[in-house]
Amino acid sequence: MSEVALAKKLYVKTYGCQMNVYDSARMADVLAPLGYVATEGPEDADLVILNTCHIREKAAEKVYSELGRLRALKQARAEAGERMTIAVAGCVAQAEGAEILRRAPQVDLVFGPQTYHRLPELIARAARAQGAGGRAGGVLDIEFPVESKFDHLPEEAAPQGVSAFLSVQEGCDKFCTFCVVPYTRGAEHSRPAAEIVAEAERMVAGGAREITLLGQNVNAYHGAAPPRGVSVGAMGGAASWGLGRLIRRLAEIEGLARLRYTTSHPRDLDDELIAAHAEVPELMPYLHLPVQSGSDRILEAMNRGHRTEDYRRKVARLRAARGDLALSSDFIVGFPGETDRDFADTLALVTEIGFAQAYSFKFSARPGTPAAAMDGQVPEPVKAERLAALQALLAAQQAAFNQAQAGRVLPVLLEARGRKPGQLTGRSPYMQAVHLAAPARYLGQIVAARIDTAQANSLSARLWAAEAGPGAEVAAPSATTPSVTTPSVTTPGVTTPSVKTPSVKTPSVKTGVLA
Ligand code: SAM
Ligand code: SF4
Repeated sequence: MSEVALAKKLYVKTYGCQMNVYDSARMADVLAPLGYVATEGPEDADLVILNTCHIREKAAEKVYSELGRLRALKQARAEAGERMTIAVAGCVAQAEGAEILRRAPQVDLVFGPQTYHRLPELIARAARAQGAGGRAGGVLDIEFPVESKFDHLPEEAAPQGVSAFLSVQEGCDKFCTFCVVPYTRGAEHSRPAAEIVAEAERMVAGGAREITLLGQNVNAYHGAAPPRGVSVGAMGGAASWGLGRLIRRLAEIEGLARLRYTTSHPRDLDDELIAAHAEVPELMPYLHLPVQSGSDRILEAMNRGHRTEDYRRKVARLRAARGDLALSSDFIVGFPGETDRDFADTLALVTEIGFAQAYSFKFSARPGTPAAAMDGQVPEPVKAERLAALQALLAAQQAAFNQAQAGRVLPVLLEARGRKPGQLTGRSPYMQAVHLAAPARYLGQIVAARIDTAQANSLSARLWAAEAGPGAEVAAPSATTPSVTTPSVTTPGVTTPSVKTPSVKTPSVKTGVLA
């Protein structure tokens, strides 16, 4: 039989964060030796996996409605004499468990984020159950096993492309009162440093030039130091490594041009990591550092373990370490008990700090979390009004930050073909999407790009020089950064200070100019 005939088709639909994107890719790696190859849609798939996210409301409902569509598909395939296996993975699977099998009997398999290394065995069990005419019921595996899935995942991973994700840490012990992560992902766990270095080396050998280190609390990373005798470059010593140390080691990998990490907690941002921002040129000057609220009262009710002053101080230290650092954040509006005054404090903090980009959400009561049962739940219309005001302010800051790049020359890592013919797209050091016309041979390279215009979510540029360093250097040929005026934002009952543009300071460097 030919290989094509043996191939089984796998369709993974990923919801939520980058950690889920990484997990989906690893599920495909686990299934590759069984002959599964990726397909574009569920229609012709032998195995469909919904890799779900449970962070906000309606997550489960979205999954159930997708399962409704899949039921019709599975039925049509059965009528054609073909078998389709449906699996639900990730945090909704962990949270809902057997309820999924009860509500959606078309589902064959439910497994949580910590057990997907067992997929081959789970699929075999699901096939046996299907063989018994489905009478054996669906298969459920939502344990938090003692063994780490990372010890059981195959070393061989399909290349992720120029920009790759690498999970270094999972789970969380912080128990913010609004958050389901400690319940769905389990306790904090860091992978050993040597394992991460080896995986990063394989990624770079497979074509990655940028790696984003992932974790629910990535800067809480404290993985076991490489054992004696294992080559760790210049980094011998301590029993465990923090994220700063890990970043320094990864930056030594030949061919790896850029490093990023997400998501960080302000509490875990230590001196070593701040120093890495100053001293490791491969570490990009962009940091997602969620603050959630600008009110100390609300931060305390959220059990965040930091105050606004701690956040201000850390940001000041980061900016002292790396003058051009661009910041991103997460915000929740309408947390129980949040008053107009608390919300005004959030707007004031945003104005003071200045963000290049941010995510903001209405508080959503997650069953089982302490905040869901708190007094003072904020009415939906008030949440909606506050969210609109905050998003207007954040959008104005993002637009101002993007505008401030016009006329500058930025190093851009070209990652993919653009939508228009002859166009490539990539990322600036500050995570902005950049579109430019360039030959496809530049894919995977860091080029110097002169920014012509800025849109709300991207920059248009032209190729300036074929080579540039990883991310620090910027030549500003004749450009003076244009001054930016942004609209002021008001919300009923709240006075908002005017919008401040996130500061942009960049060292200059020489780049060859293309004719
Ligand atoms: N570990 C990160 C931190 O401490 O900031 C956050 C990770 S969480 C997966 C991503 C974001 O989802 C949070 O920063 C928060 O803004 C948002 N989020 C989590 N639970 C939420 C809830 N119940 N309602 C609204 N937003 C929520
Ligand atoms: Fe959730 Fe982040 Fe808080 Fe952990 S630190 S409970 S992941 S919001």
